[in-house]
Parts: sequence; C-alpha cells; structure tokens
Amino acid sequence: MDALSDRPDPIEDHPRVSLAIPVYNEEEVLPELLARTRKVLDETPGGPHEIVFADDGSRDGTPELLAAAARQDPRIVVVRLSRNFGHQAAITAALDHASGDVVLVMDGDLQDPPEALPRFLDRHRQGFDVVYARRVGRREAWWLRAAYRLFYRLIAALADLRLPLDSGDFALLSRPVVDALRAAPEKNRYLRGLRTWVGFRQTGIEVPRAARAAGRSKYSLNKLLRLAFDGIFAFSVVPLRIATWLGFGAILVSSAYAAYALVARFFLDRSPQGFTALITAIVFLSGVQLVFLGVLGEYVGRIYREVKQRPHYVVERRLRNAGDPSSGSSRRRRDAG
Ligand code: UDP
Ligand code: MG
Repeated sequence: MDALSDRPDPIEDHPRVSLAIPVYNEEEVLPELLARTRKVLDETPGGPHEIVFADDGSRDGTPELLAAAARQDPRIVVVRLSRNFGHQAAITAALDHASGDVVLVMDGDLQDPPEALPRFLDRHRQGFDVVYARRVGRREAWWLRAAYRLFYRLIAALADLRLPLDSGDFALLSRPVVDALRAAPEKNRYLRGLRTWVGFRQTGIEVPRAARAAGRSKYSLNKLLRLAFDGIFAFSVVPLRIATWLGFGAILVSSAYAAYALVARFFLDRSPQGFTALITAIVFLSGVQLVFLGVLGEYVGRIYREVKQRPHYVVERRLRNAGDPSSGSSRRRRDAG
C-alpha cells in the first residue's frame, strides 16, 4: 500500500489543504459549518490551509454570513456566482479557485463530516491521488435510498468506466487530479464520473453519511433527475445501442409473422385477422420510436450545449480577507470560469 511512501516531496507529508464547498441558501447550516471546518483545519498540521466557498447564487443570508467570515479569517475564500448554476458548476468554481496541494470536495450541509479529513489525508499519504468516500448509513427516506442504489448500479452497468458504487462528490483530490479535472472542458459535468475518468491511483474509504444539519435539501427532484441523466448520457452510449437492438428484434418478429401469414394464406387457407392486435402493435412501436427519439434528443441536446462553449459559471465577485488588496468587495471582479 505504501509503494509511494518514499516520495521525495516534503510537502506531501503535510500538504496544504483546500476545502471546496458549494453552498446554496445555507444560512441555517453556515454557523455550524464554519465552526466545524475551521476547527478541523486548526487541528491539521501544515498549511496555510483554506476554505473555498462557492456561493451558488444564494438568495438568503448566506452571502453576508460568508463575507463576515472572510473578513474575520484569512483562510476563507468566497467565490460568489452571478446566479444559481447548480451543484456541479459550483463545485467546479470552488475547484478553480482552490490553491491547496490537496482539495477536499464536500457538501455544505454537513452531510459530509469535515472531521473525516485526517482519514482522507492518511490514505493520500499512502500514495493515493483520489480518496473518495463510500456512503454508508444514509439517512434519507427509504424510497430515495432505494432510488440511489438503483441508479448507482444502473450507471455502473451502463457506463464505459468502472464507476465506484455509492460514492458521491465527497472526495480528496491531489493537485494533479484537480488540474486534470479543470482541463476537462465538458459542460454537462458529472464530476464523480470525470473523477474516475482521469485515472491516477484511487481508493475509497467508508464514511457514514450524516443527516443534513439544518434546512432543506437544495436538490429538487428535477435537479436530481438531471444529474442522473448527465451521469448516464455523459458516460455511456448504451442507450443508443439499445435502440438498434430493439429495432433488429422488431424486424425479426415481424418477418416471422409475415412468413406465418403467407403459409396460413396459401397452405392452410386461412387469412390472419385481428384489428386490435394491429392497433396495439402500431401504437407500441410508435411509443418505442418516440422514446428513442427522446434518447437521441438527449445526446443532441448535450452536443448543442457543448458546441456553444459557454463557461460553466460566471463569477460575480471573489472575497478573501479584506486586508488583501488584490481582491475584496471594494474591487469587483467579473470573469468567467
Ligand atoms: N447546492 C448548490 N447549488 C444547487 C443545489 C445545491 O451549490 O443548485 C449545494 C448545497 O448547498 C449543498 C450541496 O450542494 O451544500 C448539496 O446539496 P443538497 O444537500 O441540497 O443535496 P442532497 O444532499 O439533498 O442531495
Ligand atoms: Mg445534502
């Protein structure tokens, strides 16, 4: 396991850690989140460490709370996006602004416990570039847990990559991995898939998935489905192939039936009949065609979004300790990711 423990690089023992945290309307959780993450960093040797918050266009008290925290603590960096771009874009923004030797991506609702950082670092020290959390002990409703299980297994079966089961975005990434992720320009970002795609040495550790500390989930069913579709369509062309096989199947069945109809007409002197069967077959096959038109549409829509080359997100402003003259609320910076 410690094949790389003879690495000459001295900073690897105590790497500078960036926590990358997307937040969207998390005013209820923020005080506890700030307290716990800052405490964890206090106890982590080495440094200077930092906490990069990507504020995904929050409309509650989140921006003010983050600004106040950034004024107080020079380790806190706040990247405010110009509107709500979604979880994956917000993580991308946080990764783009993180400067550490390793980056721990975690949710802002404390479902990913920051206290697990030392365990991630231990594995990193053993030579792993990606240490992802395998979720055990989920606390969501049973039907949501069942849906997650089904989804992770479906995507593992469909995808061209070996995506690890039951792992979310909670992961420690080394600098080379972060740079590789940032170099991947694709717009429909399914980061846990991209993370697998980049390669390097990867391993999982079991981290209990806590319940959300406060507030409500910011993922609507709609957003959750979109993420699931991104996962499947960005990493698999199997849905397209299914259409081909279904088409062959339909041709085979209809040819067999045509052969039977000829035999029945000329040798058995019977004409096949059945209006209902005809309607059912036509409507069924039209349905199948429409579904696969939709599947095709998913891919075409994604191509459309890719060729437009829009940035993943737009930054409204970036805050770091008011004492730092190169940034801060007095000087609004507008750039695109
Ligand atoms: N989040 C975000 N933008 C969004 C939705 C969510 O930045 O459009 C953040 C949210 O603040 C949280 C994390 O992403 O820190 C995970 O979201 P949430 O906990 O609501 O999702 P769930 O855990 O319910 O799937
Ligand atoms: Mg959550």
